Amino acid sequence: MTKLKPCPFCGKQPKMLNEYMFSRAREATQIVCKCGSGIIVYGKSSKKFNDEERESTAIRAWNTRVGDRDD
Ligand SMILES: [Zn+2]
Repeated sequence: MTKLKPCPFCGKQPKMLNEYMFSRAREATQIVCKCGSGIIVYGKSSKKFNDEERESTAIRAWNTRVGDRDD
């Protein structure tokens, strides 16, 4: 699996969490840093994402946001 890049704001390693979001009635993967920056990726409503697929989407989104791509 692709590694998470360190936070662009504080340089620390962020955490990845999987959570069921009741407000949206679907699962979500969050990547959050202690400094408060983060992203969230929701699963698709109709068909269930598998965790790995959602996680890799979240990682890609985080790493893209961080800046330089190397994939
Ligand atoms: Zn940070």
